[in-house]
Amino acid sequence: MKIIKDIKEIQNLTENLRKEGKSIGFVPTMGYLHEGHLSLVRESIKENSITFVSIFVNPTQFGPAEDFSSYPRDLERDRDLLENEGVDYLFYPTSKTMYPSGYSTFVNVNLLDETLCGRRREGHFRGVVTVVLKLFNIVQPHSTYFGQKDAQQALIIRQMIEDLNLNIRFRVLPIIREKDGLAMSSRNRYLTADEREQAVALYKSLKKAEELFERGERRSLKIKQEILKILYSHDLLKIDYVEIVDLAKLRPLNIIKDKALVAVAVYLGKARLIDNTILGGNNEDLCS
Ligand code: AMP
Repeated sequence: MKIIKDIKEIQNLTENLRKEGKSIGFVPTMGYLHEGHLSLVRESIKENSITFVSIFVNPTQFGPAEDFSSYPRDLERDRDLLENEGVDYLFYPTSKTMYPSGYSTFVNVNLLDETLCGRRREGHFRGVVTVVLKLFNIVQPHSTYFGQKDAQQALIIRQMIEDLNLNIRFRVLPIIREKDGLAMSSRNRYLTADEREQAVALYKSLKKAEELFERGERRSLKIKQEILKILYSHDLLKIDYVEIVDLAKLRPLNIIKDKALVAVAVYLGKARLIDNTILGGNNEDLCS
């Protein structure tokens, strides 16, 4: 696997690969890789002749009080993992390369960023959309792979691809979990042993929501109450939000007609954890 830091070098490379008729798959990440990331990588390798991964902890998507500087980083470990999977190229730019002095363009997807995490993390999705569009312009992939773990992010990127007429196939893959159900996340590393034990409450609460839905419950309030009951019974958790929204616009639903996204965010010690489930649907509902 070749590690490339220079933007022009990648652009020349992908231009040649395209001329040779190669299909290019791309998995953007912030590194500190786990099985969730690797599931995206494996799908890209399966579907394309060449796979690019990027590792970039993007400063513009972190708020001033968030964990940009402490976000876990381990390039050597990540490189070994990616090499082992058979990734062809790793794009590993510096902040200066991505945002040289004088940088002044930002892209915003309106409305979809006004709920859930967008409401709590001001400017977060503006940073995400901007960096993802830049990465797409650099790597020029045919297909790109994201995780349902960040469902709102997936819907926002899909909207950006559609609105800006990008010729990129957008895939969203299922949430990969630890044995006890905790969704894998680079931020799980922040958890103490006690917090780690309580972190499984998110998954349990979402399982409960699925169970209720399967038994015919369609009232969001009822489902929310049961989720909150489970979360409140864990004293280390601080609830950020529990929302049940539609999959098109992420607007709160009182009654679930066919499908709904149940999204949960909590603080647990130093970590802010998110998780979700799609009632009546699955990850395919987030793909383009
Ligand atoms: P990140 O490095 O956190 O920015 O994540 C990079 C990509 O991996 C995003 O598309 C995430 O949605 C995806 N991802 C993160 N955690 C998981 C997980 N547990 N299962 C599946 N995909 C994930």
